[in-house]
Amino acid sequence: MYNRTQNDNGSYNTRCLDCFMTVASCVETEQELDWVEAHHICPEKVLAQMFAREKAIEAQAMRN
Ligand SMILES: [Zn+2]
Repeated sequence: MYNRTQNDNGSYNTRCLDCFMTVASCVETEQELDWVEAHHICPEKVLAQMFAREKAIEAQAMRN
């Protein structure tokens, strides 16, 4: 999820609502917003994935 805002000069900013990082500021077009949002590597999501993977490995170890 991203929070998009528009500047007085018509350019856009976008902020990730998971890690609250400003992903881009003063972007000219919505297409560019789509691109930067799609390429944002979210530290919150990376951590969540790492945690989930660790849990899965632990669960597997318990079964053996
Ligand atoms: Zn993020």
